[in-house]
Amino acid sequence: MNKEKTIGWNFDNSYSNLPKSFIYEISPVPVKRPELVIFNHDLADQMGLNFSNVDNEQLAKMFSGNLLPKGSKSLAQAYAGHQFGHFTMLGDGRAVLLGEHVSKSNQRLDIQFKGSGQTPFSRNGDGRAALGPMLREYLISEAMYSLNIPTTRSLAVVKTGENVIREKPLQGAILTRVASSHIRVGTFQFIRTREKLNELNILVDYTITRHYPEISKSKNKAYDLLIKLIDKQIELVVNWMRVGFVHGVMNTDNMAISGETIDYGPCAFMDSYNLGTCFSSIDHMGRYAYGNQPAIVKWNLARFAECLLTLINPKKDEAVKIATEIIDKFDEQYEEKWFLMMKNKLGLIGNDREDKLLIFNLLELMNDQKLDYTNTFCFLMNQEIDDNKNYQNKKFDNWKMKWQKRLTKDSKKLMKINNPVIIPRNHNVENVLKSAEENDLSPFKNFLKALKNPYTNQKILTKYLSPGKKTGEKYQTFCGT
Ligand code: AMP
Ligand code: MG
Repeated sequence: MNKEKTIGWNFDNSYSNLPKSFIYEISPVPVKRPELVIFNHDLADQMGLNFSNVDNEQLAKMFSGNLLPKGSKSLAQAYAGHQFGHFTMLGDGRAVLLGEHVSKSNQRLDIQFKGSGQTPFSRNGDGRAALGPMLREYLISEAMYSLNIPTTRSLAVVKTGENVIREKPLQGAILTRVASSHIRVGTFQFIRTREKLNELNILVDYTITRHYPEISKSKNKAYDLLIKLIDKQIELVVNWMRVGFVHGVMNTDNMAISGETIDYGPCAFMDSYNLGTCFSSIDHMGRYAYGNQPAIVKWNLARFAECLLTLINPKKDEAVKIATEIIDKFDEQYEEKWFLMMKNKLGLIGNDREDKLLIFNLLELMNDQKLDYTNTFCFLMNQEIDDNKNYQNKKFDNWKMKWQKRLTKDSKKLMKINNPVIIPRNHNVENVLKSAEENDLSPFKNFLKALKNPYTNQKILTKYLSPGKKTGEKYQTFCGT
C-alpha cells in the first residue's frame, strides 16, 4: 500500500511481547459499512502521522478495523478491577489494542479501538459501542486535553453501519483512542490474582520502563512505583476538582498508571457548586460524587498498594506497615496540592493566614447560594456571564471585598490560566450529540472548536457560557455501553 507508507505509522508493540496471560491476540471484528464521522488532524500531526493523501472512505476503513495498518498486532488486554467496591475479572470486552505507535519525538502511544467487537473478555456484552457515547468521549477527552489535564486522546470516530441494541437500536460506532498506555490499577490486580511473582515483576518492570524510567535503578521499585502513582493521581484529581469534572466511574480498572484520565463513560461537569454532585444513573449512593473523588483515589491507591506488597517487603507484616504509612500520607499531600490549586483559582499569591478561611467561605457561599462553579470564577475575573445577578447580594459583596484586598499585581494573570471560561456544559453536550446522531455534525464541530481555547474569552460564544435552564430534572449520564 503506497498510501500507507506516506502516513508514517511506526509500530513497535512491546505489550504483545508480555507473557501470554496478559493478553489475548485477537482482531477487530470487521464492520458492514464504515463511515467516517470525525477525524482529529491536529492529534495526527502531533503523532507525526500524515493522512493528507487518504480520503474519507479509506480513513473509515482504517479506523473501523476493516483495514489494519501494517505493523499493528492487535490484542485484548486482561485486567480485573473493583467496580463500585466489588472485585471482578474484566479485560477488554469491547476494545482491541492495535499496538504502540512510536512518534518521531519518541513518544510511545497505544492505539486502541473501542467498540470493535467481541473478545474472550466480553462476557455477555456485544463488544460494540453506540455513536453517542463514542462522540461524547471524543468531545470530553479533547476538552480535557485543552484544559491541560492529563488524558487519553481521541483520533477518530467511525460509524459501523450496523445497529447496536441497547434500550432501543442505536447507530454503532468505533472510537480510536490514543493513550500513553492502557495499564490500569486493574492490570496489577489481575496479575496479583495469578500469584506468580515473576509475572508481577515483569509488570512492574514494564510499567517503570514505560512511564517512570527515572526509578528503573531503584532499590525497591515497587515502593517507588507506589510513591510515583500517588503523586500522579493527586495531580490528576486536583485538576478534576479545579474544573468541576466528575469522572463518574472511578473503578480501579478505570484508573491508569500513567496518571491520565481514562474511560469517559458517565462523566460530566458540575454546574452549581455542590460536593454531592453525581450524574451517573447507576451511582445510587454517590460513591463517585464530585467531593468523594479524592477519597476514592486514595481507596484505589490502597488497592494498588495491596498488589505490590510482596515486592515491597517479603515479610507480610512489614510490607503492610510500610504500605499503610505511605497511603496514610495521602490526605496531607492532597490537601496541600488542593489548597495551592484553590489559591491559584483565586489569584492568591504568597501566603496569608486568612487564605484558607477565604477559600472555605467562598465554597460555603457557592454551596448555600447554588452558584455556578465555573461562572463564579468568571465573575471574579470580570468575564461577561449571564447569571451576573446571582452575585449581587450582601454576603457575596462582603466576601468579595475581603478577597479584593488580598489581590496583587499578577493575581488576574494567575486566575486566567487556572479558571476555564468554557467547559463542556451538560446541556451543550446533549444538544450537539443529538444533532450529530441526526447527521448534523456542525454543532459538534463548533463546540469542539470553542473547547480548544477554554481559558480565552470568546465573545461570540456566549451560548456556551450559560449554565443552562434549570428544569428541576436531575441531569443523568449513562455508562458508555
Ligand atoms: P467500562 O464500564 O467501559 O469501564 O467497562 C467495564 C467492563 O465491561 C470492561 O471489561 C469492558 O470491556 C466491559 N464492557 C463494557 N461494554 C461492553 C460491551 N458492549 N461488550 C462487551 N464488554 C463490554
Ligand atoms: Mg473501563
